[in-house]
Amino acid sequence: MKLATDETGEAMVFSARLLSSKRITPESSREDVRLMSFQTDNLYFDSKVGSCIRILAPGQYGNRYHPRFYSIAESEQTDDGARFEICVRRCFYLDEVNGEEYGGVASNYLCDMQPGSAINFSGPIGYPFVVPENVNANLLMIGMGTGIAPFRGLIRMIYEKHGNWKGKVRLFYGARTGLEMLYMNDANNDLANYYDQPTFKAFQAVSPRPAFEAHASLDKTLEQNAAEVWEIVNSPDSRIYVAGMTQMLNMIDKAMTYIAGSSQAWMTKRKELISAGRWHDVLY
Ligand SMILES: Cc1cc2nc3c(=O)[nH]c(=O)nc-3n(C[C@H](O)[C@H](O)[C@H](O)COP(=O)(O)OP(=O)(O)OC[C@H]3O[C@@H](n4cnc5c(N)ncnc54)[C@H](O)[C@@H]3O)c2cc1C
Repeated sequence: MKLATDETGEAMVFSARLLSSKRITPESSREDVRLMSFQTDNLYFDSKVGSCIRILAPGQYGNRYHPRFYSIAESEQTDDGARFEICVRRCFYLDEVNGEEYGGVASNYLCDMQPGSAINFSGPIGYPFVVPENVNANLLMIGMGTGIAPFRGLIRMIYEKHGNWKGKVRLFYGARTGLEMLYMNDANNDLANYYDQPTFKAFQAVSPRPAFEAHASLDKTLEQNAAEVWEIVNSPDSRIYVAGMTQMLNMIDKAMTYIAGSSQAWMTKRKELISAGRWHDVLY
């Protein structure tokens, strides 16, 4: 991971002003996920969709900061700096000793911020999602929860900046319930802008047992589309992009093992994709 550094080699700390914070889960959902848009006036900050920033939330118990990573969902360089978006899920955890629920420090700090206030952060960190030059390349995107955030920016980049994309673009997206679909719900379906693109298709997967915190059936949805998924994986210059919680990698491996015919066949293919720079992931 590489951070922007100053002349002494220290990671540079930037600041950015919150322009807007919009809840993108419906009010009836128990999940509070927000799309937050920031502006930095620092001309050195250059972020790309798929890379991350390290936000320095105010620390607790004598610590100066509580640093946490967030992946860049949209990014645009402007003459006076950069504008970028992140998608933040408000986290809670249960203290097993006293049974009380506490809010996660950074996510609650961010979700409670008001427009006009500012964050400090460093970055960008990690590798951005790169769109291949070849417009015939097939692209497979797999996201869970807030992992869909960078795909919205990536899909916009493919159709609006590159234009006339001829390869297949397939998005597989999972959430625990239909109410937690971040961009594919009635209120907020901005991916619908791309549904009339002949090369774009999106597949949703929701958990079969939402009350039990079961994972979305992303593996089943991939398996149901086995022939097309395998064709994309094997086509020249294709790219596979994965984003979301680390646990989803097991789910993808399980589905791909089924699709490839054996664990060995999938592991060999995955290694080949990684070494050719055709596999991009941001996992957390
Ligand atoms: C590369 C990367 C990219 C990421 N991108 C995103 C993104 O785009 N959007 C997003 O919403 N998140 C993202 N995350 C996750 C994010 O960085 C934070 O981890 C998340 O927001 C929770 O941070 P927090 O400070 O709110 O919670 P914290 O206060 O750090 O708590 C987080 C968890 O720690 C445990 N915990 C902490 N303290 C205690 C305690 N006293 N007792 C018991 N358990 C405890 C709990 O399990 C709790 O759920 C990313 C993470 C990584 C590594």
